[in-house]
Amino acid sequence: MPAREVAAPVTLDYYGEDVFNTAAINKYLPRHAAEKLLDTINNNASLDPAIAADVAHGMKEWALSRGATHYTHWFLPLTGSTAEKHDAFLEPDGDKAIMSFSGKNLIVGEPDASSFPSGGLRCTFEARGYTAWDPTSPAFIKRHANGATLCIPTAFCSYTGEALDKKTPLLRSMQALSVATKRLMKCFKQSEANVKITLGPEQEYFLIDKNFYLRRPDLVQCGRTLFGAPPPKHQQLEDHYFGSIKRRILNFMSEVEVELWKLGIPAKTRHNEVAPAQFELAPMFEDVNLAVDHNMLVMEVLRQVADRHGLVCLLHEKPFAGINGSGKHNNWSLSYGRINLLNPGSDPHQNAIFLTVLCGIIKAVDEHSDLLRAAVTGAGNDHRLGANEAPPAIISMYLGDQLNDVIEQLEKGAATSCRHPSAMRIGVDTLPSLPRDATDRNRTSPFAFTGNKFEFRAPGSSQCCAGAMMTLNTIVADAFDALAEQLEKLPAENFNVELQKVLSRVIREHKRIIFNGDNYTAEWREEAARRGLPNAPDTMAALKALTDEKNMAMFNQYGVFTRKELESRYEVFLEEYHRRIRIEGEIALEIARSMIMPAAVGDLEKNMKTFQAASAAGIPFGTAALKSNIEALGRGVDELSEQCEALATALKGCHEEILAAMSNLRQTVDALEKVVADEVWPLPKYREMLFVY
Ligand code: ADP
Ligand code: MG
Repeated sequence: MPAREVAAPVTLDYYGEDVFNTAAINKYLPRHAAEKLLDTINNNASLDPAIAADVAHGMKEWALSRGATHYTHWFLPLTGSTAEKHDAFLEPDGDKAIMSFSGKNLIVGEPDASSFPSGGLRCTFEARGYTAWDPTSPAFIKRHANGATLCIPTAFCSYTGEALDKKTPLLRSMQALSVATKRLMKCFKQSEANVKITLGPEQEYFLIDKNFYLRRPDLVQCGRTLFGAPPPKHQQLEDHYFGSIKRRILNFMSEVEVELWKLGIPAKTRHNEVAPAQFELAPMFEDVNLAVDHNMLVMEVLRQVADRHGLVCLLHEKPFAGINGSGKHNNWSLSYGRINLLNPGSDPHQNAIFLTVLCGIIKAVDEHSDLLRAAVTGAGNDHRLGANEAPPAIISMYLGDQLNDVIEQLEKGAATSCRHPSAMRIGVDTLPSLPRDATDRNRTSPFAFTGNKFEFRAPGSSQCCAGAMMTLNTIVADAFDALAEQLEKLPAENFNVELQKVLSRVIREHKRIIFNGDNYTAEWREEAARRGLPNAPDTMAALKALTDEKNMAMFNQYGVFTRKELESRYEVFLEEYHRRIRIEGEIALEIARSMIMPAAVGDLEKNMKTFQAASAAGIPFGTAALKSNIEALGRGVDELSEQCEALATALKGCHEEILAAMSNLRQTVDALEKVVADEVWPLPKYREMLFVY
């Protein structure tokens, strides 16, 4: 398919044109309603229900001016994707129809939600969940060739108020962290300010030609290849990373950016990734709730635009065995008023705050690394975490040499300050300025300090960021509260000295979580075990953290999850995992039996016929080669048949059996790929999919 050329306008006038942003609010709402709505959006003021009718009317007028005929409450169900149910603005009026949209239509919706996973929170007889408008994430327009729809971001709950989605707990966790941060800042006599939690998610993805994709039932059904031998050349020459971007890809990327910019999504960076056919898109960071919604849209736009270019965007964490997988680095930070709390300060007071916040995060990650691990589980990410190209399943923190030094000094400074005159003392020293340089960053760490933010690298490329962010917010809130509890009791006259002791203790207790070395080595796995760090190798092991008593109590305390909600999530995620594995097993078996077997048998038959003909004609040449082909193919076919039987049996059993049988079957098929004639091999090969555009 020829590359689709789209002439992107060179101005950025269209940035945010499909978003009900501040400009649109001011233009379409009466003044008092606009002011109140903006106060809710910008300052977290509670929403005044009295303005709903005005907002609905203005939003509708704006949407009509943008060509919309329908509206939908847009939400993030537990499936990990987005959901929408469209209603027309249409209202019959005598012989005619008018376009109408009420305040009630804006504020609540009642999708028939019985088929969304709820883990037993909703009996089907009371299946209706409801969606509630989230005014802090602006409404936007989604277009298709024949029209447009007004999308209203919403939270999705049961009638009894239980969260059925990913946004509700995220919003609750933001609230919890906001309250805890204010409490901690009060200990430093900071005046009251807004807490802002920010996220910049770097999105990795693969692109392949659609013609290949359509001939791979495994990709179509599971998003990853269940068979396929890595080609001799894949990524070892490292010639793709940051390489010049091919024209067809650049055309695709440019169109993606235009679409995202129209939606007010600040897509900023684009580049080739390490693996062939792998790329990355990174937006500027935003408010975490908005950034989560935007990332969902980024994934959708990537898929849709790819299709228009005859490409398919693969967001699976591990589409190709033996080739780097895809992650989604979650860059997370926290600011208070105008100050980024993860920015090392330039004066002693600011430093004391920075170090306290840092120690809080160290404590949080050490105490709840099991929850961070649980937040990134999934059948897809299991193939990525722990392989030697992604962060390992053991959560640890990287601080970098300089900051690590600071932390070590801080620890000693309090313990034996007179014997270590050089050790840091809070309230006296400023921090040595830390380099923002990217070069010395440790790419192997799952949770790295990168200058003014933490980068959580374990989330998978297909995952909604909400789970990881909700977890991080909550565990940090918990640690901040624990610190504030101690700091509130310190005498004002001796605050800095006592603070130093508190932080020193935190470091002593939690420094086992800090690891600045290479996370991929076997030595680290051993060392981590000695340090007692949890190592949950797969989804099944990692999800158990959700049912842990101390974790349940914490989520409950912060109002992020009730026990019932958490149990239901555990159930939903577990069930989804099992379903995915089973689907993969069934597809693998079907491909092996109905595509691979006939190809291999056909090739065997051809070799046998030629061999027989040669023997009958008394031709001595070539028969040795034919015989060895026949042997290799015949053995392969026998093995294939055995492995298919084994997988069929395993499919009656548990997921471990299915995974093991699939892996054995794959070895046989991948070996056959190297001997069966290329022209009859039914599946596009890695060397084609990854290199041919
Ligand atoms: P990398 O070298 O890892 O690609 P970048 O410096 O390009 O890192 O930034 C990656 C992401 O981090 C971007 O999305 C950027 O907007 C985001 N980021 C930068 N500062 C912050 C912050 N204070 N809070 C959250 N994300 C941030
Ligand atoms: Mg990064």
